[in-house]
Amino acid sequence: MQGPMQGPMRVRFVGCGDAFGSGGRYNTCFHVTGESANFLIDCGASSLPALKRLGIVRDDIDLILITHFHGDHFGGLPFLLLDAQFTRRTRPLVIAGPKGIETRLTQVMEALFENSSRTKQRFDLSVVALAPGQPRSFGAVNVTPFPVVHGESGGPFLAYRVETEGRVIAYSADTEWTETLIPAARNADLFIAEAYYYDKVVKNHLSLTTLEAHLAEIKAKRLVLTHMSDDMLGRLDTLAHTTASDGMTVEI
Ligand SMILES: [Zn+2]
Ligand SMILES: [Zn+2]
Repeated sequence: MQGPMQGPMRVRFVGCGDAFGSGGRYNTCFHVTGESANFLIDCGASSLPALKRLGIVRDDIDLILITHFHGDHFGGLPFLLLDAQFTRRTRPLVIAGPKGIETRLTQVMEALFENSSRTKQRFDLSVVALAPGQPRSFGAVNVTPFPVVHGESGGPFLAYRVETEGRVIAYSADTEWTETLIPAARNADLFIAEAYYYDKVVKNHLSLTTLEAHLAEIKAKRLVLTHMSDDMLGRLDTLAHTTASDGMTVEI
């Protein structure tokens, strides 16, 4: 359900790189802010320095949506949580992601900072599992997860359709082409789509030419390409689409 359109919403590409830092880009992390909404989509390993570089106030973030358990999408959580603890965050925080997120979060905390998962936060931290077909609301942020296809390990893999303050933001997450991207992104005000390769079709990732074949059906109002490999980054001047860069803001 969409609420009435309010003031402008901003989507900041805190990090839009792939897993391997192609082009010197930070791992995936998008910051969405509106009149009341303030959340992150993904929090890759390099996200805390990327947030700090842009002067983003982490204490104002209410929600972090995680698409899957690869390090370039959720490996920044231990740094973010410890930083929140040391900077005496008091505001509650919700971290929501695919089934298993509670265990995965504990494991990554322990792997990076031993005993950190046992430290009780000074703030109220909720970790929420999301599943396809089960929309959830976090305050005024309505999240519908869709299953996507991204290999055998690090899942379940979710794309998100987020409806808030009268806008729809869709994010493909990492995925090869799958029909669920159509309902996930249909008529969205902003569709953030991975475009790992230009026309090379591989398992687990999306190529731009494959995506292009479906854009007429998806009918998103704006498209921004992200998670690009060196193959795509070498073609930026020739592409007919908006491509993300670290620090870029899109207003919707
Ligand atoms: Zn990735
Ligand atoms: Zn991935």
